Amino acid sequence: MSFDDLVAANREFAADFDLSGFDGVAHAGVAIVTCMDSRIDPLRMLGLKAGDAKIFRNPGGRVTPEALEALVLGAHLLNVERILVVPHTRCAVASNSEAELRERVTASAGVDASWQPFHVVDDQDAALREDVQKVRSHPLIPETVEVGGFIYDVDTGLLDQRV
Ligand SMILES: [Zn+2]
Repeated sequence: MSFDDLVAANREFAADFDLSGFDGVAHAGVAIVTCMDSRIDPLRMLGLKAGDAKIFRNPGGRVTPEALEALVLGAHLLNVERILVVPHTRCAVASNSEAELRERVTASAGVDASWQPFHVVDDQDAALREDVQKVRSHPLIPETVEVGGFIYDVDTGLLDQRV
């Protein structure tokens, strides 16, 4: 396996590239923290397009220290005025235990994965409330920035605001 197909696709993409000279701010004033899950299309699910939003992704769509770092930069330097925290239904880190994920990765890797943290979520709603609170109470996130917590349903495409 190589990257040839992807690089070829990139050449086509660049052939009619129209974002040249475009700045890096969030044109719709939106930042999204969501899961790495391939079923999620963060821009399209909100009716946005390239250039509109800052997007931070990790397993589970958690508000980690790195996510906060991105959101602080977004709020102060990149035009972010609304932040959506968006975990989703049928997420692997919310439907497996840490031990189960370690077992599955160990089986796939053929080497011990018992030391690898995966930050599983026991209660997705509770984790979402905590994550939204981390953003709202962050001293470097201005109070004027709106923060919402949503669950994205990967089977219907619908967002459900929980916080
Ligand atoms: Zn997920």
